[in-house]
Amino acid sequence: TNANLFAALRAAFPEDLDAIAVETDDGLHYSWRDLERGSAMIANLLDALDMEPGARVAVQVEKSVEAMLLYLATLRAGYVFLPLNTAYRSLEVEYFIGNAEPAVVVCSSANAAWVAPIAVAAGTQHVFTLDDDRTGTLLDVAAQCSDQHAVAAMGDDDLAAILYTSGTTGRSKGAMLTHRNLRSNAEVLKDYWGWEEGDVLIHALPIFHVHGLFVAIHGALINGSKMIWLNRFDPKRVVARLPDATVFMGVPTLYVRMLAEPGLTRQACARMRLFIAGSAPLLIETFNEWRERTGHTILERYGMSETAMLTSNPYNPVQGERRGGTVGFALPGVNLRVVSSAEADAGRICGTDEIGDIQVDGPNVFVGYWRMPEKTREEFTADGFFKTGDVGRIDGLGYITIVGRSKDLIISGGYNVYPAEIEGFINELPGVAESAVVGVPHADFGEVGVAIVIAKAGAAVDADAVLASLKSSLANFKVPKQCFVVPELPRNAMGKVQKALLRQQHQTLFA
Ligand code: ATP
Ligand code: MG
Repeated sequence: TNANLFAALRAAFPEDLDAIAVETDDGLHYSWRDLERGSAMIANLLDALDMEPGARVAVQVEKSVEAMLLYLATLRAGYVFLPLNTAYRSLEVEYFIGNAEPAVVVCSSANAAWVAPIAVAAGTQHVFTLDDDRTGTLLDVAAQCSDQHAVAAMGDDDLAAILYTSGTTGRSKGAMLTHRNLRSNAEVLKDYWGWEEGDVLIHALPIFHVHGLFVAIHGALINGSKMIWLNRFDPKRVVARLPDATVFMGVPTLYVRMLAEPGLTRQACARMRLFIAGSAPLLIETFNEWRERTGHTILERYGMSETAMLTSNPYNPVQGERRGGTVGFALPGVNLRVVSSAEADAGRICGTDEIGDIQVDGPNVFVGYWRMPEKTREEFTADGFFKTGDVGRIDGLGYITIVGRSKDLIISGGYNVYPAEIEGFINELPGVAESAVVGVPHADFGEVGVAIVIAKAGAAVDADAVLASLKSSLANFKVPKQCFVVPELPRNAMGKVQKALLRQQHQTLFA
């Protein structure tokens, strides 16, 4: 059988190809036949370019249904899809395109003037444009192509996509994902999250990242489910569409913004089956507030570009409750362990509730970083586990909690300080909305913590009072040496706090 992920998605299309597959929020309807024909036409366009197997198709375009068709077409034709964050400007695009050497670059017509020269300089033979209003040279050429296309025969280990990581901890790395990586994860999630007939997904995430591109799109397609499609997240519009949907996926900041909408009520969510959150930690407060307002318990899951999804809170109550602050259990087929990072016993499997490094293995784990064999070797253990770079623990019932990233770990006077623990304390203080704790260099202690605190709307938080409360409840080595109350935390498009930036800002405080 054909291991091509597209074949698995195509096999799940409903029998009635004239049924609606995608409904955009501005009133366009795409049938399953439209997805079938549209992806075939673009696949034929790609085939006509006569590219080598494994050629990359790099795409930096605004979100649109046609951009999704380009993704499906790339799979279908057997090339490697390489999406780029729409926020990247010329220096960044130059790095990614120079690094990936794509045979095809697709960009927005607004950016073509500066993207095309970068692409040409990197040896790209074909540059197309695609805009979010169904125009651009890609569609002009595809319109001339046949709408019949035989899905390319692919093996399990053939590359389907290169996904650059978010760059939260340093320079982005290109994670090479195979057809099997993506297919196995889509199949597991279909089961685990109880996808059923009649499900409708609201798709409001960007599609240059694992969450919106893989988890959301594969989730709907492999269940033959309709999507309500928003090119841009708008909390009012999502809330307005909830009565027409059953499944929603969002990063934590989307949930926070929806909670600010008076229209978010139990009534509005009456038909909803499941709310899923991930990509960054969901504050327990958001989890609780969502349950009070809507009667729904958000299901939090954990994953990354390199592995797709790794863990999930249970969907089925028989398996357990959804626990706020945890990311649930390892998904079926995922082998997850927490190991000691201490030099003396590095690699020892941690006991219950003991904090250590999270390592994973499974059919979903990527094959390596693009053109970084050294880095790839470093990030895999001798027995083949991938070092996620996340630090966490597993409780007696098997629930996994992420306590931070190993790169964010603060080593102060020889003691390990986990920022998430300190942040948890700070977030409980009156008037605090959220916080971030980062380590900065210190002459005596090597490193010390600095707390950056955001006050709730209308509340006043005193930085010294925060430090005083921490002193009374935590060991002294854990207490940040300085606290700042600021209006907001720097975040990227996926709502991830940019701790590297915070560290940089406070670099010279004690140095
Ligand atoms: P880079 O690897 O370039 O530093 P990144 O790790 O942020 O960037 P992604 O692959 O987009 O890039 O994000 C994966 C990371 O997101 C995980 O390793 C984890 O730290 C974090 N993450 C994802 N889901 C959750 C979650 N539910 N709770 C806490 N953290 C999460
Ligand atoms: Mg990462």
